[in-house]
This record gives sequence, structure tokens and C-alpha cells, in this order.
Amino acid sequence: MDNSSTKESVLGSSASSFPRSHDKISAPKDTPFFVDNEFRFSSTKDFIDVHDPATNNLVSRVPKLSNTELEEAVLSAEKAFPGWQSMSTIARQQIMFRYVGLIREHWDRLAAVITLEQGKTVADSKGDVLRGLQVAEAACAGPEYMKGEVLEVAKDMETRTYREPLGVVAVICPFNFPAMIPLWCIPIATITGNTVVLKPSERAPGAAMILAELAEKAGFPKGVINVVHGAHDTVNFLLDSPAIKAISFVGSNKAGEYIFTKGSENGKRVQANLGAKNHAVVLPDCDKDSTLDAIIAAAFGAAGQRCMALSAIVLVGETQSWLPELVKRAQALSVNGGFEANADLGPVVTPQSKARIEGLIKSAEAEGAKILCDGRGFKPAAYPNGNWVAPTIISELNPTMECYKEEIFGPVLVCLQVQSLDEAIQLVNDNPYGNGTAVFTSSGVSAERFRKNIQAGQVGVNVPIPVPLPMFSFTGNKKSVAGGGANTFYGRPGVNFYTQLKTVTSKWAGRDDQPTKNTLSMPTHS
Ligand code: NAD
Repeated sequence: MDNSSTKESVLGSSASSFPRSHDKISAPKDTPFFVDNEFRFSSTKDFIDVHDPATNNLVSRVPKLSNTELEEAVLSAEKAFPGWQSMSTIARQQIMFRYVGLIREHWDRLAAVITLEQGKTVADSKGDVLRGLQVAEAACAGPEYMKGEVLEVAKDMETRTYREPLGVVAVICPFNFPAMIPLWCIPIATITGNTVVLKPSERAPGAAMILAELAEKAGFPKGVINVVHGAHDTVNFLLDSPAIKAISFVGSNKAGEYIFTKGSENGKRVQANLGAKNHAVVLPDCDKDSTLDAIIAAAFGAAGQRCMALSAIVLVGETQSWLPELVKRAQALSVNGGFEANADLGPVVTPQSKARIEGLIKSAEAEGAKILCDGRGFKPAAYPNGNWVAPTIISELNPTMECYKEEIFGPVLVCLQVQSLDEAIQLVNDNPYGNGTAVFTSSGVSAERFRKNIQAGQVGVNVPIPVPLPMFSFTGNKKSVAGGGANTFYGRPGVNFYTQLKTVTSKWAGRDDQPTKNTLSMPTHS
């Protein structure tokens, strides 16, 4: 592979020059890692291929870093910590302002690499970047977040609180939001004074590399942000590294439950957002047209590869008769390469993912459900080799079937039917996941009943994907988070996760007219 580029063009793209099509890349480059503010190429012989999901052409190779290379990254973050921690929050804020400006300037470039490696449409990739950018913008309020409290607890005594960074923190990312998830973590972790070792998904590393390049341009000192690569062994290295004080993980239940347990056993703080099965409850008094549109967008956008995708709908009463119309709208969607202007949804990420999704559709058929609209076998003419699954709608299923129990993570919507709102609430609550849910209704009474009784952590009322903006926090629940959801991402809870609260109680007594007297009993604060 040709790695003979100059430092400036290591990533082979710039704010104005980046891929705009699925054309085959003639000489794909290896993905570098990022340590001490510089890109380095691994000496490993062990690589993971990254393919364009629309064509399965090779885009790059991700190195499985050696332990020596991983140690370089952790050491770099460790060395950078004292200086970064002792910098004032206001000085760090200046760097964050520049970072925000650069992400905005490179927005299209970031979106392009996401479309190329992950498959989602360019418009959706831009949304991926925006949702992360908004966290970085909110992190500019770091000085406000870091302010402590003070109280005079006795005439001669006061207690103050200080928020202090933890040290080196690791971030382990999924493939489906290659910019947003790194940006859920980097801005909050760094504005609060921590240094970072981030591992992007081995299936879509490009956006994280651009974010690293921009961090150096913004003025982050060397070692504050490092990016490493690999799969399970890299994660295990980070979990076992004594220098790493906290782990932020977003991904599947299988990986996340393991990472939460092992990280916690090793004495680290862990926040872990996991999988989902998000239900929308459709009541007959909702606005039919906008509800059907909202369901289609939330079920099939990003080819269903969102942790907050609507993957199940619960049709109450007469809304069951709306299914043919839902199918019609799903079939009208354009499934195409993400760079194509008309694409509503792109391919799924890998051939393995496509096979898994098709397997779950097949299992639904075998278990007696009805496939109302079958996306298997679809191929857009221009991209016959991609990982295509067109929108699929399954009905007449019951909650014991595989297609209901599993997170499908593809463009597949399952539809259940009940007769009342209370039955719908019970059904949603019986599901072990609790990331998000929505109710569609024009009744305030029904919405309020739903809000009060539903267990999922993020609730939409006529809003299909109710992800809170960064002035709030991402509040999944139940099996969609590890550790009971105590450590949520971004917002004030994100600041709490990345900081340790210190209290200092001071006594400034000893005035000559008020001599102090030693006492062995507890103070009475009078
Ligand atoms: P994944 O769990 O396969 O991978 C996530 C990360 O964990 C990757 O960096 C991967 O290298 C690492 N990893 C995977 N298996 C591992 C193992 N056994 N040991 C150690 N490390 C391991 O997830 P994915 O397929 O990339 O992402 C999709 C999943 O992420 C879905 O389940 C989705 O719901 C979830 N997700 C959740 C949220 C949320 O906020 N709840 C957001 C986005 C995605």
C-alpha cells in the first residue's frame, strides 16, 4: 500500500477535497493511528479491511496495533495529563471554540468519509456530524460546568467543591455514528481536563481520524487526544491498562456488558450505552399522515442502523388498517448508494450484517409471521455488489419470535397489534430494552398516561426519535445501558462522569480576640 504521503495529506482529503462518489479508490491507504499529535503508520502485518458498503470495494485497511504501539498512545495521554489538567478551563475553552469552528469547516469532508465507509446517505452523515458538533458547542460552556459551590458551614469554617478530571479516559466507539459518538466524548472529557485514548470502530475509522487532525489544528497540546485501532485485543489492552481511569463505550450488548463488567472489576468508571428495540405506539386519534411519515423515516433512515431507530410499532385498535398505506410508503423509498442525490437509505454496513438481517427475516417467516414487504434480494442497478436490504415490514408476529426479541439493526420494521393504550404500554414495558419510545396521539390525556407509565428512558410524544440535545443527556434505560444507566453521556451528567468531586473544608480561625479551644467532640457548626 502507498503510505508515502506528506504529513499534511496523510488522510488524503481536505475541507474541499474529499470523495464524492462510490468510484473505486485506485490506491487505498492504510489508516494511521494518532499519537503525540502526529499520524503514525503501524508496523503490524495484521489489518482489518474497510469496504465501501455500496460496492464492497476496498477503502482502507485498519491496523491491529501492537501492544507497544498501544502503550505509546496511553503513555502519550498520561504524559499530557498534568499540563492539560493545570491549564485553566478558560484556556481550554479557547481551544474548544477553535475545534468547533474547524469541525463546521470540515463538515462535508467528515460526512463524505462516513458515507464512504459506513454507507448512510450524505444528508444523514451530515446529521451524524451535527449531533456530535452540538456536543462540542455545548462543551464550550465548560467554565460554567466546572464552577464549584461554597458554603460557610460555621462562623469560621467554609466548604468548597472542586471538579477535578480523572486522568486518561478511553473511548470505544461503534460503527453506526462514526462522528457523533467520538464527539459525545472528546469535548466533555477534554474541556474538564482529561486526556483521551479513542478507539473508533474498525469498520468506520475515517471520521475519527479527521477529528484527530482537527484537534491538532485547534491547538490541543500533544497527547491530549490519541486515536488507536484494532478490535477485541485493543479493547482488552485498554481495559487492563492501569493508567486508564474511565471507559466510555457505545455499542452492542455483547461487547458492552463484557466491557462494563471487566472495566468495573479493574476499578475504572464505565459508562456504556448498548442495544435497543424502540417501539412507537400509534393511537387512532393521531394525525395519520404525519405519523406514517414519521414512522417510515425513523424505521428506515440510516437503513435502520441507529440505536434509536423505530424498529417496532404497536398499532392500537383501528390503526391496524393503516398497514397497507405504511407498506406503500416504505416501497416508495429510494435505496441507493449514499452519494446518490435521490437516496433515502443506503446499504447496511457489511455482508455479514446483511446476512444476519436476512436470517432474522427468514426466521420470522419460519415462525409464522407475515412479511408484508420484503427487502431481500434488492439491488440498485448501479451497485450490484453492495450490502442491500430494502425496507421490510413484518406483521402478525408475537413477542416470542426471534425477529422481535433480537435487535435487527437493519431496515426492518415489526408491527404488533393491540386494542388499548394500556395493553400497548404493557407490551412495550415487557420488552427488556429501554432506549427510546414514542406515542402518536392528539390527546394530552393519553400522552400523559403514556409518559407516566412507560419505562423507556427517552420518550417522544409525536416525535419518533426523541434524542435529547446536549444541554440534556442521553438517557437510555433497562437493557439499553449497563450499570443501571447511572452514568449517562453528555450534558451535566457527562461532566459528572468525567470528573471527581473534591470538597475542601477550611477553618480560618485564630483571631487574638477569639482564641480557639481544642475539643475532641464533633463540631456543632454554631
Ligand atoms: P459492537 O459492540 O460490535 O462494537 C462496538 C465497539 O466494541 C467496537 O469498537 C468494537 O471493536 C468493540 N468490540 C466489539 N466486540 C467486542 C468484544 N467482544 N470485546 C471487546 N470489544 C469489542 O457494536 P457495533 O456493531 O459497532 O454498533 C452497533 C450497536 O451499537 C447496536 O447494538 C446499537 O444499538 C448500539 N448503539 C447504541 C447506542 C446507544 O447510545 N445506546 C448508540 C449507537 C449504537
